[in-house]
Amino acid sequence: MQAALTEAGYFEEGQLVAVLTAEPIGRPLDYRAPEGGCALGAYVEVPLGPRKVMGVVWGAGEGGYDLAKVRRVIRVLDVAPMREEMQQFLVRAGDYTLTPLPLMLRLATRAPGLADAPGSRKIYRLGTAAPSRMTEARGKVIEVLRAYGGVGFYLTELAKLAGVTPQVVKGMVASGAVDEIDQPRDLPFPPLDANRPGKELSEDQSNAAAQLRTALLTGAYGTTLLKGVTGSGKTEVYLEAVADCLRQGRQALVLLPEIALTAEFLDRVEARFGARPGEWHSGASMSERRRLWRMCGEGGVQLVVGARSALFLPFRDLGLIVIDEEHDTSYKQEEGVMYSARDMAVLRASFASAQVVLASATPSLETWVNAEAGKYQRINLAARFGASELPEMAAIDMRAEQLQPNNWISPSLASEVRARLAEGEQSMLFLNRRGYAPTTVCRACGHQIGCDHCDARMVEHRFLKRLVCHQCGESKPVPDVCPECKAEGKLAPIGPGVERLAEEVSERFPDAKMAVLSSDLFSSARALKEAIHNIAAGGADIIIGTQIVAKGHNFPLLTLVGVIDADLGLMGSDMRAAERTFQLMRQVAGRAGRAERPGRALLQTHQPEHPVIRAILSGNEEDFWRAEAEGRRAEGVPPFGKMAGLILSGPEPKPLFDLGETLARSAGPLRAINAEVYGPAPAPIARVRGKHRVRMLIKAPKGAALQPAIKAWLAPLKIPNSIRIAVDIDPQSFW
Ligand code: ADP
Ligand code: ZN
Repeated sequence: MQAALTEAGYFEEGQLVAVLTAEPIGRPLDYRAPEGGCALGAYVEVPLGPRKVMGVVWGAGEGGYDLAKVRRVIRVLDVAPMREEMQQFLVRAGDYTLTPLPLMLRLATRAPGLADAPGSRKIYRLGTAAPSRMTEARGKVIEVLRAYGGVGFYLTELAKLAGVTPQVVKGMVASGAVDEIDQPRDLPFPPLDANRPGKELSEDQSNAAAQLRTALLTGAYGTTLLKGVTGSGKTEVYLEAVADCLRQGRQALVLLPEIALTAEFLDRVEARFGARPGEWHSGASMSERRRLWRMCGEGGVQLVVGARSALFLPFRDLGLIVIDEEHDTSYKQEEGVMYSARDMAVLRASFASAQVVLASATPSLETWVNAEAGKYQRINLAARFGASELPEMAAIDMRAEQLQPNNWISPSLASEVRARLAEGEQSMLFLNRRGYAPTTVCRACGHQIGCDHCDARMVEHRFLKRLVCHQCGESKPVPDVCPECKAEGKLAPIGPGVERLAEEVSERFPDAKMAVLSSDLFSSARALKEAIHNIAAGGADIIIGTQIVAKGHNFPLLTLVGVIDADLGLMGSDMRAAERTFQLMRQVAGRAGRAERPGRALLQTHQPEHPVIRAILSGNEEDFWRAEAEGRRAEGVPPFGKMAGLILSGPEPKPLFDLGETLARSAGPLRAINAEVYGPAPAPIARVRGKHRVRMLIKAPKGAALQPAIKAWLAPLKIPNSIRIAVDIDPQSFW
């Protein structure tokens, strides 16, 4: 082996280096360091077959073969080298989720244009002159530039969008129809001022902030559960922790569950620190992403607010990760690399010597158990800030209510709504079902209209005048005749969705102003935000909403929340059903009475004695978690045992079951760690987008080395090209 490091972390020209690329090769390949040498972790361009690809100098080369054949690194890119801590994190996260390292690298380099040299980035915009000669191709370029307004594109981006060759665009530059502009080097973000005074904190809040400060000052890893009801000031408290982190000169990351919320949140950050943080989400433009990615590595951004994948940004010195609404299911990525951003944040922080703050009113059971066990610190913010109190909660026993056919608002709830209307206060009716009716049934033959591509019923959306599949998004017009028995005019909607509930509200409260908040009724996050703003200002008397209303919005005039069907979530076969229902109901109830007026939350249920409903009503949350934890411990399921899902998908069901049977029979490596294998069984939704899905479930004892066993189990398998296998460690939804 000739590749010894001359200086810690630096390779001299000609030395052998191992370069990891995002190509599916599985391991780093050897190259020679370029002229001038390269650092460990450097981003480089290397030849791979006939192509040039981007990679990272992962370590010293292996050697041990014909060294004459080793090619040379083409160049070192102008971005900060990947830190060792990040390398370790990617390796461990890949081992944990059973993801090949190249795919992990891809997650960590999701920014376009990294390979571009600074200053050489040219962008193309609409020019003022007309093209010297109009052709069809040129017309397409102009069309694209007009459609995107004043936005500039990279050459290849623009050519691709217009469906023309780059030469066409270049040709238009000459005549001034397209402007070619030198993109300046990415600039650092405006500095945040951590020393601007924040809000004056209550005693509880400042104790909480002090505890987080102490943790941050250790400069070591640690995780804290910041538990507090909605409105208790968790955000104020963790923004203090952000300020402390910035004062230490380290970077902070705040993860939020929903993109729609960031704008409101960004304003709050700006008010606190005098400038906006970096934003990382799917709505950000390519150049915004590239800038943020680079500035993370160079230390040119102090605070990033983002969606779960921001966890893979190349921070230079990450000191704090906040996960707001840590129980939110959107933190689990269920496509591609299946990972839980919450768990990966803890892993990343442990390598970066950073602190993690998990904020929630209703933490996940896993987090609650970790706090109970002392693995996480725990801070409680018991009271709501200021005068606002938690709403009083009660059940409405639907067995005792007299409802008209196709009515879903009980007389008891209706009279509460009427009382609010008389007082000029707002009511919210919560129903977690989009659309008009969840089922469309033929009254002649009983046929239910299903999706052609999925095992799901089509949901009628009257607003769109279509039936929509909530699995794959497929839609079709509501038919006049039953597709099964051909009877005419017999198709009837069954059950309520928010649109139907809205119909009932406008019939029963004709003078009330009504607003429906359902994600599918808004064309953009901005439109949704505007609606929310308008409602908060008093633009509606009755708000009808799906789960988008459960999160973080502040409606000061709202004093009544009515949950139309509290039983909805209790029925699933999912072990987390009770937990989810509990979280959702608490969050919704937390909407009421946020300002000076006390609130009330009423849950319509057919089973008021159900333990989950009782726990919600009693307000005794600790009892709920304790009971849930005991149940899971008895079953040996997470967090008291390990679980993994295996999803086989393909065009035909039979080969999937055959493969599943083979796997079940050859589960030696799993049995060796005392794991049990269940299945193959059809996945709960056995067909999505025309693909059949078969699922297997693996349960292992807590201490077992599950991932290596799964690897050993799948390794000898010959998988036909048409079949895809995905492993889901710690599955959250059992699809
Ligand atoms: P949570 O994150 O727990 O839901 P927030 O931090 O959003 O709570 O606080 C709820 C509301 O109370 C916000 O409007 C916030 O500005 C306000 N608030 C919280 N703490 C204070 C404080 N110490 N001084 C002034 N306003 C506060
Ligand atoms: Zn479908």
